[in-house]
Amino acid sequence: MTAQAQKMAVTASPFTLPPLPYPDNSLEPLISARTLQLHHRVHHKGYVDKVNQLVAGTAFAQMTLRQIILATSGKVQHAPLFQNAAQAWNHAFYWHSLKPKGGGAPPPLFKAQVDDSFGSVDALKEALATEAKGLFGSGWAWLVADGARLRVVGTHNADNPLVDKLTPLLVIDVWEHAYYLDVQNRRADYVQGILSNLVNWDFAAANTSGPPVNGLA
Ligand code: FE
Repeated sequence: MTAQAQKMAVTASPFTLPPLPYPDNSLEPLISARTLQLHHRVHHKGYVDKVNQLVAGTAFAQMTLRQIILATSGKVQHAPLFQNAAQAWNHAFYWHSLKPKGGGAPPPLFKAQVDDSFGSVDALKEALATEAKGLFGSGWAWLVADGARLRVVGTHNADNPLVDKLTPLLVIDVWEHAYYLDVQNRRADYVQGILSNLVNWDFAAANTSGPPVNGLA
């Protein structure tokens, strides 16, 4: 390795903004291209950039985002790193929780798990909608696996259920930046629209057997 390459390897930022898994306009009309452009390339990128600044020259630079989240949770001196790392992870997870022409019926094996835990897919959707609509302020509404049981939980600000030893399966971002340009204060319309037309049950099903997406391990 040349001296120049060595210098680049040492100073390179360990985290990069993952690309959206679909074109900017493919979640319209509920989520506009303008919202996705700002949400992904300004908000999400801002969290990734801040993590890179905060880990520079520290042992955290060798960790994954998930490892950083678990290592910094609840530690006041690392609060900014926790918040930005969790927001970077949460947003990458959120993009995959949605898909163009989503909604519909979950895959059969996953549907059986949903039926066991909630009684029906409609009951799960109702639980997610209630959590997402009722969460005060900024945060996230999650479907998680708690051992063999599926549960719906809400987290505030950057918080992430990984720190409670829960396995995230699906998330809805209910920060205002996720919907305000498109539906203003009507969070309920955004949430119901996701559950009807954009929710990615395949992603949730895949997460029951481990994290499938690069950068989320
Ligand atoms: Fe967001």
